[in-house]
Amino acid sequence: MTVTKSDLLCEGKAKSMYLTNDDEKLIMHFRDDTSAFDGEKRAKLARKGRVNNEFNAHIMRHLATAGIKNHFEEQINETDSVVKRLEMLPIECVVRNIAAGSLCRRLGIEDGINLEPPVFEFFYKNDTLHDPMINQFHIRTFGWATDDEIIRMRELTFKVNDILKPLFANAGMLLVDYKLEFGRFDGELYLGDEFTPDGCRIWDSETREKLDKDRFRKDLGNVIESYEIVASRLGFLNTASA
Ligand code: C5P
Repeated sequence: MTVTKSDLLCEGKAKSMYLTNDDEKLIMHFRDDTSAFDGEKRAKLARKGRVNNEFNAHIMRHLATAGIKNHFEEQINETDSVVKRLEMLPIECVVRNIAAGSLCRRLGIEDGINLEPPVFEFFYKNDTLHDPMINQFHIRTFGWATDDEIIRMRELTFKVNDILKPLFANAGMLLVDYKLEFGRFDGELYLGDEFTPDGCRIWDSETREKLDKDRFRKDLGNVIESYEIVASRLGFLNTASA
């Protein structure tokens, strides 16, 4: 059955989710919008929707091949992909290989030091509260996930690290950190949301130049050009600027 777009289900800061003619599937539309600091800083960046849709498709396919069940089904045009409709958990899972961002601010850790073993953190997905850091006790007590799901989210997030760190390393880049979100489907946890340079930090291995959304957060310029450089190094986007 061909999946066709119907009503808008919900709108995030950079993506819109649409219902389809299939109850179990949604269409994820990547917009050119970008935002940081819980939506306080916003802009429209040409080509962003297209690059992130391609990026996400490539990474999700790679993860599926490596055994990580995820919601991605197929890319249907430049900015849209069909995904399974998951019951999303209100939790963000972060793994950090190198210290950056909020870890440095919170704990006074020096930016750029290697984290061995990598650090794992849970955050509560809530813009009004600025996505506060939580632990498994909060998740359990407030019923945001079951004990099994807590274990599984951690396991899967680290497994993604084992798969993606070498993928980026082989293309001359460091996977500094990333955020994943999971949801329920058919009694199992599936990786949902997206994997794009909006939700991870990627540095050039040699120069440590930032190639991710920090370029937007820190006004470094060439935001989408950098996303395209990452994509072309991974071998799936050929653009004039990459
Ligand atoms: O800001 P912080 O250092 O905690 O972010 C860790 C990682 O998680 C970064 O790669 C960031 O892009 C990602 N993240 C995200 N969405 C959030 C919070 C963090 O994609 N709401």
